[in-house]
Amino acid sequence: MKTFCGRANPTTGAMEWLEEDENYDYHQEIARSRYADMLHDKDRNVKYYQGIRAAVSRVKERGEKAIVLDIGTGTGLLSMMAASAGADFCYAIEVFKPMANAAVKIVEKNGFRDKIKVINKHSTEVTVGPDGDMQCRANILVTELFDTELIGEGALPTYEHAHKYLVQEGCEAVPHRATVYVQLVESERMWSWNKLFPVHVEAEDGEKIIVSPSEMENCPGVSSVCDIQLNQMPSSDFTILSDVVTMFSVDFSKPVRSASTYYRVQLEPVKSGKAQIVLSWWDIDMDPSGMINCTMAPYWVKSSSAFQWRDHWMQCVYFLPNEEPVLQGEKVYLTACRDEYSVWYKLQKARGEEENKVDVRVESPVCRCQAHLLWNRPRFGELNDQNRTLQYMKSLMKVLKTDSVCLCISDGSLLPMLAHYLGAKQVQYFFLFFKANHLEDKIKIIEARPESLTSSHLEDKKISVLVGEPFFTTSLLPWHNVYFWYARTAVTSHLTSNVTVLPQSASLHMMIVEFQDLWRIRSPCGICEGFDVRTMDDMIKNSLNFRESKEAEPHPLWEYPCRSLSDPQEVLTFDFRKTVPQHCLSTEGSVNLLRKGKSHGAVLWMEYHLDADISVSTGLMQISNEKGNCEWNPHCKQAVYFFSSVIESESLSDLPSAVTYAINFNTKTGEIAMDFKL
Ligand code: SAH
Repeated sequence: MKTFCGRANPTTGAMEWLEEDENYDYHQEIARSRYADMLHDKDRNVKYYQGIRAAVSRVKERGEKAIVLDIGTGTGLLSMMAASAGADFCYAIEVFKPMANAAVKIVEKNGFRDKIKVINKHSTEVTVGPDGDMQCRANILVTELFDTELIGEGALPTYEHAHKYLVQEGCEAVPHRATVYVQLVESERMWSWNKLFPVHVEAEDGEKIIVSPSEMENCPGVSSVCDIQLNQMPSSDFTILSDVVTMFSVDFSKPVRSASTYYRVQLEPVKSGKAQIVLSWWDIDMDPSGMINCTMAPYWVKSSSAFQWRDHWMQCVYFLPNEEPVLQGEKVYLTACRDEYSVWYKLQKARGEEENKVDVRVESPVCRCQAHLLWNRPRFGELNDQNRTLQYMKSLMKVLKTDSVCLCISDGSLLPMLAHYLGAKQVQYFFLFFKANHLEDKIKIIEARPESLTSSHLEDKKISVLVGEPFFTTSLLPWHNVYFWYARTAVTSHLTSNVTVLPQSASLHMMIVEFQDLWRIRSPCGICEGFDVRTMDDMIKNSLNFRESKEAEPHPLWEYPCRSLSDPQEVLTFDFRKTVPQHCLSTEGSVNLLRKGKSHGAVLWMEYHLDADISVSTGLMQISNEKGNCEWNPHCKQAVYFFSSVIESESLSDLPSAVTYAINFNTKTGEIAMDFKL
């Protein structure tokens, strides 16, 4: 079956109807899934295996048959572990049909057909009884239903239901318990992902400060989790204000309640400072004694010995509703509120315990200022990047005159305000800010798409300065922001003949890299703890090759260390001073590999040339040493194109040679096709 899906093309802005293969979503799900990463997570796999063996022996020692319920079996891995450990029978539940099918194949291939029954259902649909999916209730409950926030994938309601209907009282659970830890910190860098800092503008008539409105200052933000590779955050970027404390734990061997609740701890700050951020992570004990522990603790907490890189579980950053000054030794209360799927935090000064209790409300935070809906965390960070703002101000100053008529095309941008303070007459939207800064009558908001712009929108004036960051919320890959070029083309008839376009051009840059770890997410696993999971590898490979064109994927590379193996190379240029050409832009060439290493893929990013002298990069900031370690723009995602050698897990030669490439930008579709040969 084919379905038609309407969408705005992220690059050209055109409304288009795509004929989607019904399998498209499913292939996307498999190709971009975390299954490969989980199978590569040796630490997790080994500990699950140990925990499962221990649980099976405890049940056997009691003289009982070991009946296992594995909820969310995925590849069937944990059920196969249980069967190998001597379990009498396993019910392996998997809701996602393609995975359930894969589990059936993998279970058969590994010779467990008689011991494991794969059931393609959501666990809450599973029936127990002589005619049911399960003959009887299980006495061992095995699951791996956790995300970085622990409960975000619905572990609590699933456990609640399983204890009521699917497992025996007093069952063994692997994992046995999970514990959530927190640490209070001050961090300008992380706080800049949640609040807009004042922007200082050096105008001709003195300094102007763009401030955020009070609604924004006091807004609790949004409840979506901010999960990051905290191990990539240097200790110089935050100040620890408290010890690590246990916030709450869940015993999975007992009935679990998923209803909203809160937990409270008393903290004694180890340092005075501004409490802004709660860092959080969890660990799981695979057995009741706590001897088999799998932890997400970051580098400054964990003994470095057993470090396991993983991307399916990271660490959480929670933003307190407001920054609170705290004093060393002066106790405060930290409250974690949670509903079924998410957690949020509040901090209160220590008062009487009873008085504080009254304050606890468990509704999840809802953004009241709109900004947290318009800007995601990296975008807040980008707007707060003073150096970046300075580059825009410098180049705006060069081109703006008092009689400039300026049009800004970018989403949720501060450029209109900068342009106004730096001398221009008019521009576009974002009410809240204009009100707070008393600019409603100075900056005009045009609520129209570029192609439907009319001279009456512009009060019959021609645009002398066209500006953009460019930034659009619809952009996923770096070159999607080239939408600015299409918008510029659409408004051409409204531009003066000697219009200044800022940025004047953009260029696409490319570099060959070796990743420290990120390659794992796309690399086949083969044999996992003795079980053959190649069926899964083939499935992922097939999905990655679906449509026969591999695609680049967005990743924030500041979180994923890599080494450059080649010099960065400019591969395409987009000249915004001219309109979008009819013909394709294409390039071919080869890059020499300068350093030894494994060529895992190419990284691509955009650089915007605001004018002849000032450029801003959304990708590489610098190569920091002779080993080739890279520093990336911390606010942007770069495009990563994994070479087939990663996907096929070919052994790669370490010797420096060259990579040839062919890159084609189709100006009609806005798509970039690329091909690389090692
Ligand atoms: N157990 C496997 C896979 C874990 S990923 C392993 O450890 O390698 C979690 C899987 O659980 C996903 O495939 C997801 O589709 C499935 N899942 C999540 N909640 C479920 C539920 N309540 N019932 C059935 N499957 C569920």
